[in-house]
Amino acid sequence: MSSVSAAALVNRLIRPEILALHAYHVPVSDGFIKLDAMENPYLVPQTLRDEIAALVANAPVNRYPDPNPVALKQQIRDLLNLPEGMDVLLGNGSDEIIQLLAMAVNQPNATLLSVEPSFVMYKMIATFIGMRYVGVPLAADFSLDLPAMLAAIAREQPALIFLAYPNNPTGNLFSAADIEQILRTATGLVVVDEAYYAFADDSFVPRLSEFPNLLVMRTFSKLGMAGLRLGFLVGSTTWLNELDKLRLPYNVGVLPQLVASKLLDHHDVLLQQAAQLKQDRSALLAQLAALSGVQVFPSQANFLLFRVKNATAVFNALKARNILIKNLNGGHPALSNCLRVTIGTPAENAQFLTALEEICR
Ligand SMILES: *Cc1c(COP(=O)(O)O)cnc(C)c1O
Repeated sequence: MSSVSAAALVNRLIRPEILALHAYHVPVSDGFIKLDAMENPYLVPQTLRDEIAALVANAPVNRYPDPNPVALKQQIRDLLNLPEGMDVLLGNGSDEIIQLLAMAVNQPNATLLSVEPSFVMYKMIATFIGMRYVGVPLAADFSLDLPAMLAAIAREQPALIFLAYPNNPTGNLFSAADIEQILRTATGLVVVDEAYYAFADDSFVPRLSEFPNLLVMRTFSKLGMAGLRLGFLVGSTTWLNELDKLRLPYNVGVLPQLVASKLLDHHDVLLQQAAQLKQDRSALLAQLAALSGVQVFPSQANFLLFRVKNATAVFNALKARNILIKNLNGGHPALSNCLRVTIGTPAENAQFLTALEEICR
C-alpha cells in the first residue's frame, strides 16, 4: 500500500464525475467593495446587535442544538401565514435543502430538471448525488420557454423540477401563469425557489394548497443572514414528514437558531433594509441603462444583470479598482459578456457606477 500514491488512489476511488468537477469557486474578497454574492450590505442596529451578543454569550454551545426548534418554526409560520396542514423544514442554507430533495427522489433513472441559465447548484447537486440532470434553455429574453418546458416534461418525466422565482442570475420573475401550467402538467415535484422573495412582488406561498406537487423553498441569506446559513422549505406535512427523515438531525446549529430567532423578532428592520435595496436597485438600473454600451436587464432581486462589450475586461478593471462583482462571461452562452452586480449601500453603488463609467468611457 505504501508504494501507491494518493493521486493514484484518488483516481481509482473517487467517482469520475466528481474528478471532472471544478470546486465551487469563491474569490478572495478581503478589502474589496463586495458586490458579488447577493449579500445584504447592512448590519442590524447596534442595540439589536448588543442583544444578540448577550444571547450568544449565554448560548449552550456545549449542547447539541434543538433538532426540532418549534418556536423558530412557528415564527416562520407566522411570517408566511402558513395554513394548517402545512409545515416548515429547516436547512443549513437552502443549498442543503436542494440536496435533501434530490436525494429523496433519486430512484434509478430519476431526472432533475431546471432551466438554464439558472442557479448552478441544481445541476451541481444532481452531479454530487449521481442523479440525471436536464436543463431547458430559457427564451432569449430569459422568460420561460413554455412549449420547450412542456415538451421536456413530457419527454423526461422529471421527478423534481426547480424554478428560481425570481431567477438567479437573470433577476427576472417568470410568468406565474407559465409556472401554473408546469405545475398542472408535471407528474413530479415542483420546487419554487424563492431565495429573493424579499425583493420580489409575487410568491407561490399563498398557492401551496392548490397544487399537491408544489413546495416553496426560501432562505434568509439574501435578507441579511447569509452568515447564519438558514434556509427552509414549506409545504404539506405529507411531503415534509418524508423529507425530514433525510435531514441530518443537528443541521442547524445553536447559534444560527438563536440569532435567526432574534432577528425574526425584528423582521420589520430587515424588510426595511430590503425596501431600501429595492429603491436603490431602481436607481442603479436607471443609471446603468443611461450608459452607452451597457444593456441592463429588469430585476426583482437584489442584483442587476447587465451586458457590456467586453465583460472580462470590465470585470478585471473593476477588480483593479477594488470592486468585486460576478463575471458570468464564459459560463452559459446566453450570458456572454454579462456581469452581475449585487445592490450595495448607496455609497458602494455610486463607487461601482463611477468606476464603470470610467472603464466604459
Ligand atoms: C443564493 C441562492 C440560494 C442558496 O441560498 P443559501 O440559503 O445561502 O444556501 C438558493 N437558490 C437561489 C436561486 C439562490 O440565488
